[in-house]
Amino acid sequence: MTLGWLALARGDIDRMAERRRDEDWVAAAWAGSRVLVVDDKGRVPVRLTDRPELVYVPSRTAPKGERVLLGIDEDKIAYFAVCAPIPDGIPDAEPTGLRRIGALLADVESTLMTQAVAMAAWHGAHRFCPRCGAPTKAIAAGHVRVCTEDGGEQYPRLDPAVIMLVADADDRVLLARGVSWPERRASVLAGFIEPGESMEQAVAREVKEEVGLDVGEVTYMGSQPWPMPQSLMLGFSCRTDDVAKLKLDKAEIAEAYWYTRDELKAAALNRDVLLPGRVSIARQLIEHWYGADLPGSWGL
Ligand SMILES: [Zn+2]
Repeated sequence: MTLGWLALARGDIDRMAERRRDEDWVAAAWAGSRVLVVDDKGRVPVRLTDRPELVYVPSRTAPKGERVLLGIDEDKIAYFAVCAPIPDGIPDAEPTGLRRIGALLADVESTLMTQAVAMAAWHGAHRFCPRCGAPTKAIAAGHVRVCTEDGGEQYPRLDPAVIMLVADADDRVLLARGVSWPERRASVLAGFIEPGESMEQAVAREVKEEVGLDVGEVTYMGSQPWPMPQSLMLGFSCRTDDVAKLKLDKAEIAEAYWYTRDELKAAALNRDVLLPGRVSIARQLIEHWYGADLPGSWGL
């Protein structure tokens, strides 16, 4: 069985990729669209209630900035992102990031915000051509950047990362604290895939590097975008039969411990362990292993 609900991989929007280079269609869509303003910290205007909602501005009052067609919803309403400082004076709106509200938004709003934040980060970091250094400009409704000198096109980039739950022969889970994390925070292991490596090879290498363990079969569990700034998290579970080899890479891992289900529940209840927030695939991997929700988190 694989992961079910993932905070940033839910919701359905028609991205209208086939219309992105149709300038007349894009202009008409813009005229009646809802615009989500994204600032350079990946924040958008949000109405913060028990059920947070994105706050859009009409396109006629949207600030200047890169425009990105996000898609159209079931009611044929078009959504764009505009990369710009969030204007003052949007009623009841507070600039808010994905970590805080990604798990709380409605399905469609979660996917709209995830795409908007990812595209804003990409535009911000790709303003110059990687071949000749000349400025680039956005085309194709904000989904391509083209070099103003040599015409070379750039497409949005993703950094694939593996994140894996390691269990032992007794089905205990290994949770670790990164060296830069506060006390008590703990999560599963993760790392970027290197060039020339498969996902499964990256899982085995990262586990070996970080905690010294050899893992057997690696099982794919699910994925979700993590645009902070441009990762795609690929979730796995794997098993090790030789816990005696545990040896931490002290440059990366401050501490790591094995937990039975009862031990982890008690530690989470007592706040001896602070688990990652529900927006993360890490949390979903841990709760999938546990078999139910767990209390508390380090996030909001
Ligand atoms: Zn160029």
